[in-house]
Amino acid sequence: MSDYIPYGRQEITPEDEQAVLAALRSEWLTQGPMIDQFQQAVADYCGTQYATACANGTAALHLACLALDVGLGDIVWTTANTFVASANCALYCGAKVDFVDIDPDTLNMSVDRLVEKLDQAQKNNDLPKVVIPVHFGGLSCDMQKIHALSQKYGFKIIEDASHAIGSKYRAQSVGSCKYADMTTFSFHPVKVITTGEGGMVMTSQSHLAEKLNLLRTHGVTKNPEMMIGQAEGPWYYQQIDLGFNYRITDIQCALGLSQLKRLDDYVARRNQLAQRYNELLQGLPIKRQKITQDSYSAYHLYVIQLDATKTSKTRLDVFNYLRKYNIGVNVHYIPVHLQPYYQQLGFKAGDFPCAEAYYEGAITLPLFPTMTEADQDRVIKALKDALRCM
Ligand SMILES: *Cc1c(COP(=O)(O)O)cnc(C)c1O
Repeated sequence: MSDYIPYGRQEITPEDEQAVLAALRSEWLTQGPMIDQFQQAVADYCGTQYATACANGTAALHLACLALDVGLGDIVWTTANTFVASANCALYCGAKVDFVDIDPDTLNMSVDRLVEKLDQAQKNNDLPKVVIPVHFGGLSCDMQKIHALSQKYGFKIIEDASHAIGSKYRAQSVGSCKYADMTTFSFHPVKVITTGEGGMVMTSQSHLAEKLNLLRTHGVTKNPEMMIGQAEGPWYYQQIDLGFNYRITDIQCALGLSQLKRLDDYVARRNQLAQRYNELLQGLPIKRQKITQDSYSAYHLYVIQLDATKTSKTRLDVFNYLRKYNIGVNVHYIPVHLQPYYQQLGFKAGDFPCAEAYYEGAITLPLFPTMTEADQDRVIKALKDALRCM
């Protein structure tokens, strides 16, 4: 039997190992100089001013919501086609969550549905405080339009760019915050670059950066300028807000800094392999994500959707067949509103039909920078066999 090909896999080079070892042997395992260096390097890469590294991508989303004062009674919208964390972050703050259906071609939050929903919400006086677009698979949402809507309707924007470090939109790096208040990244091993666990929040607004830093560390400050009254001595600190321990370690940031050097190469290789999939999968009864003209995707995911009008094979059949041949296919995503926890909040099947229809046929094919063309040929052959015979 051939080796298992996972849907995603990190690469750890000898340089990465050296970087981590150096951090382990340093004075600082956490709260040392690597954190600032990693933050600065990602900020420079994205072309934005401030970066706050933290424990994981979910913590990044939670911190971003808190920095915008999301709380009890507030409303937050995200896309139905995402990982649960994009919605959970608002629930952590006591807010109400609602979803926007997707565009069936880009698989991102549909701007048309968003416009309709905002229009309706304005009439009902229940406009969202924050909208969290997710750059699905690495493809940027139409941020220029979403940003224009934020100006018209007065909501804030957090981009969940967990899939999209290294992506570009209108010649800007995702994370530039040109069209958003904040952008979050995840450095989980399946994502584009990794720190093991890790996340980051980008912003160009100093007051948000200050809040993010404070909330990442218990709401505690040692900065006399931020204190109520006088500092009582050099040891003195004050808790001025309710924060969390969402810190990341120097060890992790050393790995991230080393990985960041290869980000552009990784994304180029992912694009090359995605292009090759596009060519070699032509003629099959499947749909692919439409990459928009103004975008360069980091291709965290390569997803296909079985076209039910052209094949009688079910997703389950094809999925099982591929797994039987050691192809580590996956499914991204079960629409969040179909999760039992969200159903219990009042959502039901049929609420977001495009996300549901996409999910019915969705399969994520393996894609990672160290994947060989021979690996990819095996995936393609197995998929063709699955769709033809079985
Ligand atoms: C991975 C992911 C997250 C969460 O990131 P973690 O680092 O695993 O906490 C959030 N949103 C999306 C869209 C993701 O893919």
